[in-house]
Amino acid sequence: MKVYLETMGCQMNVLDSELVRSLLRESGMEMTDDARSAEVLLYNTCSVRDHAENKVHSRLGWACQRKAGGKRLVIGVLGCMAQRLGIELVRRHVGVDIVCGPGQLGRVAEMVLEATAGHGPQIALDSSTALRVAMRSSKGDATRNKAESDDNVEFLDLHRDPLRHHLPGQAYVRIMRGCDKFCTYCIVPYVRGPERSRPPEEILEEVRRLAGAGVTQVTLLGQTVNSYRFADDGQTVGLADLLELLESVSGLKRIRFITSYPGDFDRAILQAMCDLPKVCKYLHIPAQSGSDRVLRAMGRRYSRGEYDDLIDAARQTVPGIGIAGDFIVGFPSETEEDFAASADLIRRSRYKNSYIFKYSSRPGTTAAKRLTDDVPNQVKRYRNRELLAEQEAVSLAGNREMTGQTVEVLVEGLSPRAEKQSRKGGTVKPNAVRLGRGSSEHGQVFDLTVPPPHKQLVGRTRTDHIVVFDGSENLAGQYANVKIIDATALTLFGKL
Ligand code: SF4
Repeated sequence: MKVYLETMGCQMNVLDSELVRSLLRESGMEMTDDARSAEVLLYNTCSVRDHAENKVHSRLGWACQRKAGGKRLVIGVLGCMAQRLGIELVRRHVGVDIVCGPGQLGRVAEMVLEATAGHGPQIALDSSTALRVAMRSSKGDATRNKAESDDNVEFLDLHRDPLRHHLPGQAYVRIMRGCDKFCTYCIVPYVRGPERSRPPEEILEEVRRLAGAGVTQVTLLGQTVNSYRFADDGQTVGLADLLELLESVSGLKRIRFITSYPGDFDRAILQAMCDLPKVCKYLHIPAQSGSDRVLRAMGRRYSRGEYDDLIDAARQTVPGIGIAGDFIVGFPSETEEDFAASADLIRRSRYKNSYIFKYSSRPGTTAAKRLTDDVPNQVKRYRNRELLAEQEAVSLAGNREMTGQTVEVLVEGLSPRAEKQSRKGGTVKPNAVRLGRGSSEHGQVFDLTVPPPHKQLVGRTRTDHIVVFDGSENLAGQYANVKIIDATALTLFGKL
């Protein structure tokens, strides 16, 4: 059977899809990038914004129409949207065979086989117990390591194929699941369940296997990754301890972790970033707003002052650190003054980049139940543009400071531009090499410009800066030293 699996949403979904692909291959199925030729269509979905869900509805509309037209197809919805909407997806889209929540992905192969055998719709959702626990919990509990549910998520991580990862030489590694923070706008705690940290030995073993298979950079994933805490035998291992443990893995060169939550941020993590050579100097730490009033309404458990202190501590402890932020504009009741506080935070924090989103009300969240979505869409759009412009100015200034420096990048592969051109079948022509000026025998002057053997590549520094430069395609997965010669707000341009 040929399976097409499309992924929407965050890195956690990218990893989940990677692991599901391994399982499907193990079960004898073949993966394809071509949805039209596939017999099984799977969508690993995201519920964070309305827009993401609409995209899935439109994909399902297309798939179900083809099935209704006589094409033999198995159609499945996986991940957060599957968990949120459950059986409603089968009712709304006649033709959907599989609905599988994020905690049940280890069962996808079996579900595909059952659906193919004509055994009716296959529904696997995380137990209501897990979700009740999540809803009841108001703060993280270091002693609760085991899932208080019947989900089988560990199965997925433990069965990963160390040779397959999202980029050459790089792999995501999940260190925890779920979230206990319950920010009022967010659906994650309801669809991904309570925080559960994986045992450190299991993570260590997985990273060793990956490094043994040639992975040199791991990115540790958690919805609130700095909340990682595993308690056993009276001993608690936190993220700083875990980083120290992973530092010892031979063959590994870089360790990153995303995404951090600003409340209760253990300063030992910053010290580990400074002391441990393999730990990258990069912190993605969403603020969401610069206004105390809005932070309270969002249910974020820190104040603007505490956030500022954390950024100051990060810059003092980890010189040269790259910091990225997240913002929501147009949260219910956000005034111009609140918005100005967010713009001020961008300037003060000197983020290297920020992810900025317009507020989108999610059914089932506290904000959707209790707050009126009263900021007009037009105002949200305007604030979004304004904040992006603030960030662009800050990013450009920061990037320009890097020109002239030589940085080490881990090469990801072709740049998006070169990738697009090569997909189209065209010749990838990077910056042509000008050898000088010459003249023909007849005295005609011409440029000795030849197409170089190199292509345009993209890589990332330890601070997560994106660098574009020309080089040989087989550098993908390798480290290269690149001199920065130019900069825009989004990208650094360099020379090998
Ligand atoms: S910390 Fe808040 S925003 Fe992040 S996943 Fe948890 S509830 Fe959502």
